Amino acid sequence: MPDLETIVALAKRRGFVFPSSELYGGLAGTWDFGPLGAELAHNIKELWWEHFVKSREEMYGLASSILMPEAVWKASGHLEGFADPLAECKKCKKRFRADEFSGKKCPECAGALSEPKQFNLMFKTENSYLRPEIAQGMFVNFKNVLDTMRPTLPFGIAQIGRAFRNEIAPRDFLFRVREFDLMEFEYFVKESEWEKYFEKWREEIWAWLEKVGIDKKSVHELEVPKEERAHYSRRTIDFEFDFPFGKKELYGLAYRGDYDLTQHMKHSGVDLRYTDSASREKFIPHVVEPTFGLGRTVLAVLLSVYREDGERVILSLPPKIAPYKVAVFPLVSNKENLVSKAREIYNELRKHFTAAFDDRGNIGKRYYSQDEIGTPWCVTIDYQTLEDGTVTVRDRDSGSQVRHPAAELDKYFSEKLS
Ligand code: ATP
Repeated sequence: MPDLETIVALAKRRGFVFPSSELYGGLAGTWDFGPLGAELAHNIKELWWEHFVKSREEMYGLASSILMPEAVWKASGHLEGFADPLAECKKCKKRFRADEFSGKKCPECAGALSEPKQFNLMFKTENSYLRPEIAQGMFVNFKNVLDTMRPTLPFGIAQIGRAFRNEIAPRDFLFRVREFDLMEFEYFVKESEWEKYFEKWREEIWAWLEKVGIDKKSVHELEVPKEERAHYSRRTIDFEFDFPFGKKELYGLAYRGDYDLTQHMKHSGVDLRYTDSASREKFIPHVVEPTFGLGRTVLAVLLSVYREDGERVILSLPPKIAPYKVAVFPLVSNKENLVSKAREIYNELRKHFTAAFDDRGNIGKRYYSQDEIGTPWCVTIDYQTLEDGTVTVRDRDSGSQVRHPAAELDKYFSEKLS
């Protein structure tokens, strides 16, 4: 696996990820997705939505607000419990998470550290908080979804969206930031069935890892002991990934019991019980929640698919998430008829696939350039194309080159991507 610096440098050089507000010296804990990173992130979100939401009858999508009032966070327990222990160096004033190292001295300047105090991670605005997790959006809309969609148990409410945490020490590129996207669902079940669905989603997380291109050998399940679990959780498995900076949480799978709905029912005074259609019994469903950080996914994917072959760098991204599906080249750039034919084919392909056009340098360099950003296929237009309408399709992973009629490219790539 490459080291972190290699990935950070590649990400910046090729337009995947830029330091945020870099013109003004940056802002700690924030990164911007560049043109290729935005495509990659978008494709991962789309694949996740397809895998967990669109393809399942019992899943309901949601897009709730980032701003939520204090009452929500009071009920959810975040106002009280969503904190990390903070220690400050009395000399250099740097802040550290006291649970991340055991020393009594500042790791930067060896100054004395203050006694740890609990530091709440929520960002507060004038009249609300930026959500530190997206789950509460699902809980406060539980009744709305019940009333409008009339679902029967088990069913899920899913969303993808931004969350904000005032992390004490943002670090390790996209791993620990203050603003990030989460992909998550709350799966509502009868209490007696929670273990069955916990197992189901555990298996589905492994299926997802495979699909998105994360090296499964680098992922390990960790049964989180009671004292380390979040305040709402009765069982949690962390899916940890071997990042270059250590084995750390990539995803989580938590059994939240009936904690959140019970709390909201108590605090809002609104009946949030579900009525069983057969027995007419009213009760609060229990919840199994798989959660997926988008930034950590992007990082784990890049680390998993990166390989070097001599001078050549290749990102073996699954074609579905590759920023460009195909790159189109005229064999040479100074022959008008080749260039215009290549443009014609490029414009045709662009109707269905994200595509790149490149006529700079020699073909070998153009292949290498596309390998480095994970483009699965390159199409070259040469003199034979002008005669018989065929083009060369070069495959990123095998390096094989085959001739295909240009008119059939659309069908050819669609089948590969299905
Ligand atoms: P940690 O112990 O690493 O602070 P956590 O246990 O508080 O994390 P969760 O509340 O389980 O994290 O967060 C759910 C998911 O959100 C994580 O699995 C991770 O993918 C993502 N995530 C959490 N915090 C951050 C962050 N600061 N930056 C990027 N992604 C994050």
